Amino acid sequence: MKGLSLTVLGCSGSYAAAGEACSGYLIRSNKTNVWVDCGPGTLSNLQENIELNEVDAIVVSHHHPDHCAELPVVYNAYKYFTSVSKMRVISTSDVRRVTDAFQSDGDSGDVFDWEIVADGSVSEVGDISVCFSRTDHPVETLAMRFSCGTESIVYTSDTGRNWSVSELGLGANIILGEGTLLEHNADSTVPHISCKHLAAEANSARAEQLVVTHVPPGSDPLKHLEEAAAVFEGQVELAATGRTFSTTNN
Ligand SMILES: [Zn+2]
Repeated sequence: MKGLSLTVLGCSGSYAAAGEACSGYLIRSNKTNVWVDCGPGTLSNLQENIELNEVDAIVVSHHHPDHCAELPVVYNAYKYFTSVSKMRVISTSDVRRVTDAFQSDGDSGDVFDWEIVADGSVSEVGDISVCFSRTDHPVETLAMRFSCGTESIVYTSDTGRNWSVSELGLGANIILGEGTLLEHNADSTVPHISCKHLAAEANSARAEQLVVTHVPPGSDPLKHLEEAAAVFEGQVELAATGRTFSTTNN
């Protein structure tokens, strides 16, 4: 495979619907596997795709529980059931703080090799480069752009309207974007964006493909897809657990 692929490990917004998982994605090049966000349920689904010892790094966008709460369980898996000596975890400082709190000595650093990032940080994981941009969300939250050669995937993480996808550059092959809301129920007090807003942002950022994610239980995903498709000029898809999207067609 050339380029990058994105496999959905879970995509329910806020909490998982029956039989689903919260936010988690596997981003892969032909050499590198990056696990992005550790929402509850994603550890199980990750293992449907790769072995735990094939993960090169875990990247976590923010410390809201639907994006990070599986990390203490992931700690158990690596500590007691794999030969991996240290798993690299790239995240905000608050993700480390809440993960450490689960340990009796207040430190998960014996298993996790923490790399704390913030707005403007860049991390290299194998042949994938990851750039971070702070979004508009109540806690420190990082959107990210994954690049490998000329291919790239942008993940918005969670955001309100006062952050722009273009902060992470133009021309991504895929934007994986939160479309938590529909425009008619978009409310400025809710720190998320509508699918209409997301699609307009994806147009401005000149993305080729938009994958809508983080639809909350109880909201009809097809309505989210429809709203985004009415505005976005490229191809629009709906995230669903197990689906894989690729930056190239081969
Ligand atoms: Zn959040």
